[in-house]
Amino acid sequence: MEVDSRVLEKLGDRQEKEGSLPEILEFYRALLRIQVEARAAISTAQPGLTKTKVSVQIRKGIPLLKWDALSADWPTFQNLFQAAIAAIDEHTTSECESLRKVAADTALLEEATRIWYEGSSLSPWAGSHGIDEELLAAAIHCAIKPFLTSKAESLIGLVPQKQWRREYCPICGGKPDFAYLDKERGSRWLVCSRCDSEWLFQRLGCPYCGNNDPEAQAYFASEDDLYRLYTCQSCKTYLKAIDLRHTESEVLLPLERVLTVDMDRQGQEQGYRGGWAGTAPDEQ
Ligand SMILES: [Zn+2]
Ligand SMILES: [Zn+2]
Repeated sequence: MEVDSRVLEKLGDRQEKEGSLPEILEFYRALLRIQVEARAAISTAQPGLTKTKVSVQIRKGIPLLKWDALSADWPTFQNLFQAAIAAIDEHTTSECESLRKVAADTALLEEATRIWYEGSSLSPWAGSHGIDEELLAAAIHCAIKPFLTSKAESLIGLVPQKQWRREYCPICGGKPDFAYLDKERGSRWLVCSRCDSEWLFQRLGCPYCGNNDPEAQAYFASEDDLYRLYTCQSCKTYLKAIDLRHTESEVLLPLERVLTVDMDRQGQEQGYRGGWAGTAPDEQ
């Protein structure tokens, strides 16, 4: 929560200095404000996991936060979902009418969110309700995030980092969408695309398909060596990263995702896709 508030502060400073923010940052700020406001009212209680249970789940590779333990408050979720639609409507060209119909029905919302959370494809559900899948996923993500991050923050300290090292988040099971190399040793940490949890991963190897053949794995560094774009020939994905050994300034990871959209463009121009979005080619 502190990070999100710092991000809002930083964006406010930048706006003051430059007069206005780029549209993508305005949109991001609108979503973040909705989430930060909601977080204040959401319980941060740890969902009753004992040490033994945690160690069994970690050993078996089962993420700690099951759907049932998420215990989202659905009326609050619904408000957040509606606020997300309003922000999407204001800041993008997306057609939100079909989303509004779902937003009026708590049971439908819960059903869609469960499918999204459990990692199944939203495509059939979105199709049968006449909604764009990507748009639905974006609104769900915005609305569920305050619930996810509050639980994640209370659980991440229980994860034995050296033991996990898997391709998915130890808390919610989500895929990473950002990485960083730490200041101390340059170890590579992944950041969850859904709940912002961070976990230790190997330096080499693709966190989407598991390939670790040096021939298929590469990265391109920015001129100042601060950023890296990792690519995988095997599943044709990219992952953005920041090398914290090359900066003394404060780095806010959630903001870095948005500040590095140029790297997304570069990755896509070279024929790669973000490995956290959509389904892998072999799942289609
Ligand atoms: Zn997660
Ligand atoms: Zn791969």
